[in-house]
Amino acid sequence: MIGFGLGRFLKKIRPRERGWDDPKIAGRDERIFVENKKSCPVCHKGLEEGELERTLYVCPSCKHHFRITPWERIRFTVDGGVFQEIAAKVESVNPLNFPDYDAKLSETKDKTGMTEAVVAGRCKIENRELVMAVMAFNFMGGSMGSVVGEKVTRAILEGARQELPVVVFATSGGARMQEGIFSLMQMAKTSNALALLEEKGLPFFVVLTDPTYGGVTASFAMLGDVTLAEPEASIGFAGPRVIEGTIRQKLPEGFQRSEFLLQKGFIDAVVERKDLRRTLSFLIETHQPSEGGL
Ligand SMILES: [Zn+2]
Repeated sequence: MIGFGLGRFLKKIRPRERGWDDPKIAGRDERIFVENKKSCPVCHKGLEEGELERTLYVCPSCKHHFRITPWERIRFTVDGGVFQEIAAKVESVNPLNFPDYDAKLSETKDKTGMTEAVVAGRCKIENRELVMAVMAFNFMGGSMGSVVGEKVTRAILEGARQELPVVVFATSGGARMQEGIFSLMQMAKTSNALALLEEKGLPFFVVLTDPTYGGVTASFAMLGDVTLAEPEASIGFAGPRVIEGTIRQKLPEGFQRSEFLLQKGFIDAVVERKDLRRTLSFLIETHQPSEGGL
C-alpha cells in the first residue's frame, strides 16, 4: 500500500466544491469539436448535415469514431446529460514562467470554452451514481499538467469519500511540457489516489479513446480494474515513429491500435461508442463493493 497519508488528506479537503449544487446539463450546441464535417476522413463518404450528431459522432459507413469534446461525450453518456462538476474553478498557472504559456492557455480557453483538458464530476449512468472524469484532446492535446492531475485526483478522492465507482475517459498526447517536472509529478499523484480507491474496495474503470499517449498512459489510464477502448484508438507511450526510429525496425500492422492491444492482452475489451453507456452500467452493477469493503 502506498498511502502517503492520503486518508488524512482526504478528511481535510473540503467536502464540496463550488458549483456542486448547480448541476450542468450538457447541451448539444456546446463546444462542438467535430465542426461541419462534410465527409469521413477514413472512408471519404459524404455526411449529411447533423448526421454525426445522431450517430454519436461515428461514421455510419465505416464506423470511424471521431474525436469529441468532454461535453459532447457527457451529453450522451450520462443520464439526462446532467453533470455536477468537481473542481470546475481550478485553473492552471505558469509555475516555471515558461515563455508564451500564459498566452497559449488563454487562447485555448477562448477557443474551446473550457478551462482545462479535463472535466470531472458526479453523474448517473442508468440510475447508478458514479464519479467521472473526461479528458479533452482539443485542449492543448489533452496534455497533463498540474491541473489535469489535480482534477483527476479530486475525482478519484471524491469516489473514495462518497464510496462511488470512478470512470475516466482518457485522451492525451502526454505530459504538458510547459510545466516540466510538475507535469511528471501528476503521474505519481493520480496513481497514489487510485491506491486509496483500491484500498476502499471501489472500482476504477478506464475508457481509452483516440489518442492516449505518454504520461497519462504511464499512470492512471493503465490502472483500471477494467480497461475498455473505443475501436481503432491509438494507444501507447511513445508514438510509432519514435519507436521505429529507436529500434530501426518496421512495426507490425495495426500496432498501438485498440484491436492489436486487445489481442496482446493489454486491454480488456474494444467497445463501440453506442455500447459504452450500457457496458459501463453493467460494470458498475457487477462491481458493487461488498459490505464493509474488501
Ligand atoms: Zn467513414
